[in-house]
Amino acid sequence: MRNLVFAANWKMHQAPADAAAFMRTFVGQYARQQDRRVLFFPSAVSLHVVVQAIKERADLEAGVQNIHWEDKGAFTGETSAPLARGAGARHVLIGHSERRHVFGETDEETGKKVAAALRAGLTPTICVGETLAQRERGETLAVVTRQLRAAVAGIDAGVLATTIVAYEPVWAIGTGKNATPADAGEVHSAIRAELRSLVGERGAAVPILYGGSVNRSNVDSLLAASEVGGVLVGGASLDAEQWLAIARSG
Ligand code: PEP
Repeated sequence: MRNLVFAANWKMHQAPADAAAFMRTFVGQYARQQDRRVLFFPSAVSLHVVVQAIKERADLEAGVQNIHWEDKGAFTGETSAPLARGAGARHVLIGHSERRHVFGETDEETGKKVAAALRAGLTPTICVGETLAQRERGETLAVVTRQLRAAVAGIDAGVLATTIVAYEPVWAIGTGKNATPADAGEVHSAIRAELRSLVGERGAAVPILYGGSVNRSNVDSLLAASEVGGVLVGGASLDAEQWLAIARSG
């Protein structure tokens, strides 16, 4: 059976009241499907609403969009992995392209965040992806491999096998341009090969999600591409009806 993952990244949207209305619609209409999990990454201020809404459902899980790599301390404005875990998060996005390209997060920092997430019992979704300039220079596979290796440096093979990877070409995020299934399949296959070289056969269990302008019209063709084990969705996950359609696809 497939083990698909559908992940909603709400970015800086959905205040607690909006998140509550969304979750009432979604939880009321979405029946559990054995071959998939649905993850929600709300803003940290709306996490409690999502955690409360899904507490009876093993197929629905919540996470945060970012953490600091230290467990505690004088870091005003930051959220640590133990704080997120204590608030009910089970997952965290690490190295999202907006963290890397808007906030200047480095490969080294993503590695420290992955380690912090795993220490606290959070499952990291490790985001990798090339810019348009890097794609045009033919550097896609080199960039993605470098980002993945840096994110998991020093992680035990057994633990690495419990993580999630998301391939999100930077030029496809929020732009309405998505990779073709063939382009996505090529990069996903390279990521799978890298995971196998890092952790052997256990690398086959790591879901590799595609992200970048996924919507209800293109999701089926992307899910059919080689090694695409789910989707990470921004804009189209903000509308409950569209997110319901996406989470039921594939
Ligand atoms: C994202 O935020 O991870 C993303 C893929 O956004 P969008 O679906 O809007 O391109």
